[in-house]
Amino acid sequence: MARLIFLGPPGAGKGTQAQTLSQAQQIPHISTGDILRNAVKQQTELGRKAQAYMDKGELVPDQLIIEMVRDRLSVDDIEPGWILDGFPRTVAQARFLDELLEEIHQSYDWVVNFDVPDQMLVDRLLSRGRRDDTEDVIRHRLQVYRQQTAPLIDFYRDRNQLISVDGALPVGAVTAELQEAIQS
Ligand code: AMP
Repeated sequence: MARLIFLGPPGAGKGTQAQTLSQAQQIPHISTGDILRNAVKQQTELGRKAQAYMDKGELVPDQLIIEMVRDRLSVDDIEPGWILDGFPRTVAQARFLDELLEEIHQSYDWVVNFDVPDQMLVDRLLSRGRRDDTEDVIRHRLQVYRQQTAPLIDFYRDRNQLISVDGALPVGAVTAELQEAIQS
């Protein structure tokens, strides 16, 4: 049983590690980016509202994200645990998550911060080739990360529930580091 929040810049390997761990632990991998991309593909109301922000590398407004996460965490497959990947991304989202978890009588075990040097992030994202992975949009997403998401590192560090992993290591080494860290 694990309830984990994955924090880190775009390209840090959160999604890859979340996928591996979600399979190993049989718990859902909840990626707000994936949910949004799916909504865009289906052209739902949420997708239509979110698309322009995503294409520019901006954050989708908190209110939309909050409703989406509230819905997702009301599905009962989350009972055995979960990995939140790419959420929260702002202090307002983190505060909302605190309230929501209290409401549903759950709490997270660890916040895992993926540490990766900027140049490596840009190289990785450029090689990924997603629709929002052009160089300008990548640079903007990194800037948005520094300004709006990085403050969450201190937010969670103050609660002594923050683990940092070296996301510059090869994928398998990061998985090993992560598994050891969450077992301790
Ligand atoms: P990701 O796949 O996590 O890199 O997310 C892709 C894009 O979806 C981001 O650049 C944002 O536009 C949007 N997004 C994903 N998660 C969030 C979130 N928690 N808050 C705001 N926007 C988000």
